Formats: sequence, C-alpha cells, structure tokens
Amino acid sequence: MPKPLDPQTKNRLAARVQYYKEMGIYDFYRQPIDPNVELVVQAPLENPIAENMPKAKTNTQATTLPPVIGDKPSALKLIREDIGDCTRCRLHKGRTNLVFGVGNVNADLMFVGEGPGADEDAQGEPFVGRAGQLLNNMISAMGIKREDVYIANVVKCRPPSNRTPEKDECDTCSPFLMRQIDIIQPKVIVALGAVAAKNLLAVNDSMSNLRGRWYDFRNSKLLVTYHPAYLLRDPRQKKEAWKDLQMVMKYLGLNPPTKAQE
Ligand code: URA
Repeated sequence: MPKPLDPQTKNRLAARVQYYKEMGIYDFYRQPIDPNVELVVQAPLENPIAENMPKAKTNTQATTLPPVIGDKPSALKLIREDIGDCTRCRLHKGRTNLVFGVGNVNADLMFVGEGPGADEDAQGEPFVGRAGQLLNNMISAMGIKREDVYIANVVKCRPPSNRTPEKDECDTCSPFLMRQIDIIQPKVIVALGAVAAKNLLAVNDSMSNLRGRWYDFRNSKLLVTYHPAYLLRDPRQKKEAWKDLQMVMKYLGLNPPTKAQE
C-alpha cells in the first residue's frame, strides 16, 4: 500500500498538474512505483519547462499569447523522457526504434505524418524512406531545407505491415505530439494525409473537404495536404499538393528557389 502524500507534496503535485493543463496536456499515465523509493517532488518553478523565460510583468489585461519556452531542446528532452521505453499501446511490440521527431526546434513550419514505416523504424527518424525523399523535395521546392522544419508523426511506433494506426493508438500517442507542438510553436503545421488531419483536427471528413483552407490549431495555422506516400502512388495529385504548399509559402513569406539556388 503506497504511503499517502503529505499535504505539501500534494500541493506541489497539484501545481504541476495545473501547469501541464495550462499547456494543454491532460493525459497522464501511471507508472509502477517501487514502494521502497521515497517520492521527492521539487518545488515547482513558475513554469517548469521555461526556466529561461523572462519574468512576466504584472499585467491586468488578459492575454492569449502562448507561453514563451526558453529552452526548447530541454523541454523536448523532457517529453522524450516521459515517453521512455513506451509500452502504452500495442504498437511497441513491433518496434525497433521509437520515432520521436526531428528538426529545427524553432521551426516556423512543422509537418505531421501518420506513423513510421520500415525505414523510419530502422533509423529512428521520421520520413527517411521513399515518402521522405518526396517530402524533402517538397520542402526544397518551397525554398527551404529539411533542417529548417520540424517533422513528427501522430504515432511514434511503426504499425505492423504499415497498417493505419488505430484510434486508441493515436489517442494514446498524440498527447506527446501535442506537447511537441506546444513547445515548438510553429507558425504553420502541415498535416500530411487524412490520418494526420483527422487526428489533429478531431474531425472525420474527406481529404477534398479538409484541404484548401486554414484551421486555427493550438496557436498555429494548420493546413491539410496529401501524404507523400499517396503522391507516389498517384503523381497526378502533385500539382494539387503544390497548390497547398504555395498557400503555406504565401503565409510564411517564402519564395521558391531561383534556378541558380537549386
Ligand atoms: N509515413 C509517415 O506518415 N511518416 C513517416 O515518418 C514515414 C512515412
């Protein structure tokens, strides 16, 4: 039987949970705890992951600005540590490497795919296979590099035989993606394909209805486009995807590379 928490520890835990709620993080997972280990909870920082955040000025006006994350790499590392050697859903059984996400932590643009495939599972990095090559080309066509953006997936472990991740798998994994988004705070998120779009937006609609418009999403703008794997199967849709990317370029003030830059 675990020891009941003393009131001070309880208050500190409550403050931390409240902090996570303000960050939009609602889901917590219980880990087995060794009953012989003393639970030590440090006094909460004003904002536990924004240690370098400038102190807020007293301001009576309500603000909707997102919190400034001072040390994004450490904040992301904390999420990776929270995920740990994850066994929260059945996808862990077939995993070689968990695919967390990669890229520029200060990116204005973030791409979200469905889940790792065989190449990504082998290398622990999203979009490194054939679909990844096409995604790289799409990014270059926008006049930027893969290293300039952040790339992640709805689920972090490869579904068996590349099947579509199931709802409970997405629901279990996506809170970690939401935390990544809240830390990176990209100006634009591009949802690659229907699985990413439906999970992020929590809607069940067709690609033709989902594409072609901006959504407000967690302090970012979100746009839906075709998944690169779908574009490999049906290259005729590439010009439609290019229209989507041009909307992103216009919003971010990006210019396509000149011939000399290519
Ligand atoms: N497809 C995805 O959705 N994500 C990857 O990382 C690779 C392929």
